[in-house]
Amino acid sequence: MFPKILISACLLGRPVRYDGKGKPLSHPAIARWQAEGRLVGFCPEQAGGLPTPRPPAEIEAGMGGEDVVEGRARVVENTGRDVSGAFVEGGRQAVEFARANGCAFALLIDGSPSCGSGFIYDGSFSAVRHPGLGVTAALMRRAGISVYSDREIDALVAHLDGKAGNDL
Ligand code: SF4
Repeated sequence: MFPKILISACLLGRPVRYDGKGKPLSHPAIARWQAEGRLVGFCPEQAGGLPTPRPPAEIEAGMGGEDVVEGRARVVENTGRDVSGAFVEGGRQAVEFARANGCAFALLIDGSPSCGSGFIYDGSFSAVRHPGLGVTAALMRRAGISVYSDREIDALVAHLDGKAGNDL
């Protein structure tokens, strides 16, 4: 059986982002994995109870998803509203959803305060990036799920194709 992959729903083009749009990932592997029934789409922010569209949010003070999970930092909308609880709840649901669907891998869009795994924004709402994890990516890594960003899809393809050749 092919390993399944939890994918950020916006990467499948679903209109779940804060701005009410999707951000479809154009890569030949996406169509192949969909045909093979490997992809399971999920949006942690919607699962956590946030509406779409919604104000943009960032993790404050240059901190990361682990800090939010541990209560050392907050996720704050550009309106000033604290949405940390919704982000942590959405991340927990994402982990449960991945487990329930047999996903050992996750392909998450980078830069998001939920799904980012290579970089996130620093909380100043001025497009300043820094290396770090979003809340969902942090909880997934903690749960032992292998997280790849959309920019790392070729590495995930290589890993899964190698695994299929060697193990399956
Ligand atoms: Fe996409 Fe993740 Fe944001 Fe949902 S929480 S819109 S899946 S980046």
